[in-house]
Amino acid sequence: RKLPVSLIFSRSKVYMADLESGLHYLLRVELATHQTLEGEELKTFKDFVTVVAKLFPGRQSVVKLLETLLEWLVSLPLEKIPFDAILDLVNNRMRISGMFLSDQLQWVGCQGSRVGLRGYPCSLWTLFHVLTVQAASRPDALANTGLEENPKAVLQTMRKYIVNFFGCQECGKHFEEMAVASLPQVKSVDQAVLWLWRKHNQVNGRLAGTMSEDPHFPKTQWPSPDLCPICHEEQDGIHVWNEDKVLMFLKQHYGAANISPKHMY
Ligand code: FAD
Repeated sequence: RKLPVSLIFSRSKVYMADLESGLHYLLRVELATHQTLEGEELKTFKDFVTVVAKLFPGRQSVVKLLETLLEWLVSLPLEKIPFDAILDLVNNRMRISGMFLSDQLQWVGCQGSRVGLRGYPCSLWTLFHVLTVQAASRPDALANTGLEENPKAVLQTMRKYIVNFFGCQECGKHFEEMAVASLPQVKSVDQAVLWLWRKHNQVNGRLAGTMSEDPHFPKTQWPSPDLCPICHEEQDGIHVWNEDKVLMFLKQHYGAANISPKHMY
């Protein structure tokens, strides 16, 4: 079946348009449901901005915006930050110096066959896969942030973001259960990359055939054999993953060199 929307894209690429649209949605729409940030929410937001400012392999204008947002958050002695102040900074104050995050939603690899499918949640998974891969390939990137000694920094930030801010509370509950059960076993940045892949497949398995599934994008165990043939093996007639190959594939697929600028505003 042909996809009704129709931006041409390749399943073997990651699209910067999805990542930037996701950041736009997160910063300007999802966060807007919280009038002020304080306590655990503020800490979570600061950690999130730290992780993306240091690890997001994006355009200079966007990275600069994230870095400036981080400096501002860190320098503020406030215990409460009104959402409007963050929005003002992101929308107006930084534009003058060329720092800019588009406010258009342009889903490419994350486009759905109708509104309400794919889009933002797809971009959030994509963003966090990209961030875990960056953390594994650039070990010094988090230096002097307080997160540098922690191989789970990206995953813990994602976990707290999902619980505190992600619009789908049911998703947060499920993700939290998975994190409680198996996150303590993650001991290295490579294991963190694989943990997120494994958990994402677990979610795919749970959601296959449900209302969340876009019929044009069936939920499968990823990467499929056509994306990564060497990731798949058989032992005694049973399918097994070759996790060394999966790790190599994830680092290539979610690596900076595989992020396409196509269809970007
Ligand atoms: P997504 O699952 O969003 O995946 C996006 C892209 O990532 C895919 O197109 C593929 O290219 C790639 N990918 C797929 N699997 C993997 C993998 N294992 N490793 C690496 N890359 C992969 N929805 C619910 O209805 N119930 C829930 O409980 C729920 N929990 C969620 C928890 C989290 C943390 C998040 C971020 C989302 C959750 N969602 C949940 C939303 C759901 O997982 C999908 O994001 C949404 O249904 C859109 O699906 P999609 O087809 O775009 O693919």
